[in-house]
Amino acid sequence: MVKSENNYDAIGILGGTFDPVHFGHLRSALEVCLQLNLDHVRLLPCAEPPHRQATMASAEVRRLMLELAVKSVPQLIVDDRELQRDGPSFTVDTLLSLRQEFKDNPLFLILGTDAFRGLATWSRWQQILSLAHIVVVQRPDETLDLQEELQNWYQQNLAQTTDRYLAAGKIWPLTVTSLAISATQIRQDLLAANPVNFLLPESVIAVIEQLGLYRSNASDN
Ligand code: ATP
Repeated sequence: MVKSENNYDAIGILGGTFDPVHFGHLRSALEVCLQLNLDHVRLLPCAEPPHRQATMASAEVRRLMLELAVKSVPQLIVDDRELQRDGPSFTVDTLLSLRQEFKDNPLFLILGTDAFRGLATWSRWQQILSLAHIVVVQRPDETLDLQEELQNWYQQNLAQTTDRYLAAGKIWPLTVTSLAISATQIRQDLLAANPVNFLLPESVIAVIEQLGLYRSNASDN
């Protein structure tokens, strides 16, 4: 476990729509946890994504699917704080809320390269590093290709090994096993009544079947 100088556990944070959660999310969260020696990774389903269209499954059902998915994996924890808040969930507000609870713990916000590339469009994005580290998760075959402003910011804030005990402030590129799974593809397969086995946990597939989720293009919200 990574402890800060004050001996606090290091915590990973992975936000997403998880509509539905799949092995791409779960495996990369676990690998980040192991590579950075984090105490655990918190998976945060968002209520209303600011950058995209409404989710298909309701917040409650997305949370339930996440809870079932991580049931036997102690390193992964579901954190539903964004569902308790009204309105869109800006990452910086979520980090402020986490900081209130975990005052001195090293916090590691986990972003895929796609999300990181769009970071400069996020609300108060430059404040993020004052609240947490950023882990940029790359698949082995991916390049970062950042726009100039973000590329400079990335270079300026790249982490050194000795930064691992800081509570926030650095960017950590990591490579994880490539699982080219997407929730969009899973929803399309379900709409076409194709099997989705081995893309997501069986416990999640059971909920999808029981509730008849993603069988039409209409949102279940
Ligand atoms: P959608 O297809 O609906 O856009 P998604 O599968 O990309 O969904 P999100 O809930 O938007 O899932 O993703 C949450 C986070 O998980 C994002 O940071 C995203 O980059 C990351 N992620 C998504 N799919 C994978 C994957 N296959 N491997 C690793 N990380 C992933």
